[in-house]
Amino acid sequence: KQELNIIEGALELRNKTVEDVLTPLGDCFMLSSDSILDFATMSEIMQSGYTRIPVYENERSNIVDILYVKDLAFVDPDDSMPLVTMTKFYCRPLHFVFHDAKLDLVLEDFKKGKSHLAIVQIVNDKGECDPFYEVLGIVTLEDIIEEIIKSEILDE
Ligand code: ADP
Repeated sequence: KQELNIIEGALELRNKTVEDVLTPLGDCFMLSSDSILDFATMSEIMQSGYTRIPVYENERSNIVDILYVKDLAFVDPDDSMPLVTMTKFYCRPLHFVFHDAKLDLVLEDFKKGKSHLAIVQIVNDKGECDPFYEVLGIVTLEDIIEEIIKSEILDE
């Protein structure tokens, strides 16, 4: 029965889009690019419990980098290092997907070793101004796996 459920979940991937499973931008734990890695910021990062943290410049919709929490292993909060020093050093690639991308294709991207977190974009052509890319949120491998097994994976 459970196997059948999983097969069904896998087959449905091609009918679902990232928009169906994304974590909205408003719910994302992110850091401003001008953050300082002092004790307060590092504690906040650790308390968030996330592995990857998008970094934005000026506005939350303008994601410019991604911080992997494991990159902080040798950072001493007493040094109050600017976050940009770390992100410039590691230069983690950003991976963007469109809101209407089908989950089976995004899963293939994730399998190819691209970052397991993608930033979800939509082309906003509603207003008077020129069309522009708008960030809706983020999607991770876990969000897709949850669709396959059709149940939520609780965090450790
Ligand atoms: P983690 O390894 O950080 O727990 P996962 O890739 O396992 O992240 O994703 C778990 C859930 O948390 C997913 O729903 C994903 O969209 C969400 N998520 C991942 N990173 C963040 C973040 N920085 N802020 C908010 N939600 C996040």
